[in-house]
Amino acid sequence: DTLDVRRIMERIYDQAQQLARGQEISCEIAPDTPLLRADGDKLQQVLLNVVDNALKFTPSDGRIKLSACGEDEDKVRIEVSDNGKGIVPEALPHVFDRFYRADPARSRAPQRVGGSGLGLAIAQELIQAQHGTIEIDSILGEGTSVAIKLPAIRLIPETSTP
Ligand code: ATP
Ligand code: MG
Repeated sequence: DTLDVRRIMERIYDQAQQLARGQEISCEIAPDTPLLRADGDKLQQVLLNVVDNALKFTPSDGRIKLSACGEDEDKVRIEVSDNGKGIVPEALPHVFDRFYRADPARSRAPQRVGGSGLGLAIAQELIQAQHGTIEIDSILGEGTSVAIKLPAIRLIPETSTP
């Protein structure tokens, strides 16, 4: 499908605000962001998973930023960043693995912070199936950002009139 990232991001922004426990949510979309090629429902599912993580691992006085812009002429970049607890460097390469959760204390007490460690694994499958990439970056104690890149729709350039 051809998607306008604004529509998707508006919906995610609304949902993030409803799910927030006090965190401040912001959303910034660069005005020249191209349309993108992706399945809207699947992209929404992925973004909701990533936002769910950001909210789960960020204290109530924290911030979560949603943003989108064009990148490299042929991609749309969507980013979700937070200033929450962050991820230890040793765990970072594993967060896309099925059932992996970075904090073992949490895995033994799933009632405290819910989750099965599947969210990012499923997100990566869905994004890769749509010819996109998903990357995570984190600094322990400072925050985490997840960047998703999907193919942009390239508008055919107008042929110059003589
Ligand atoms: P599920 O998504 O199935 O509910 P989950 O959130 O634990 O469970 P993932 O979404 O796959 O699983 O994330 C894997 C792990 O990566 C998390 O358990 C957490 O340790 C770490 N993680 C993911 N996002 C963040 C984030 N924004 N801040 C800190 N840690 C994160
Ligand atoms: Mg999750």
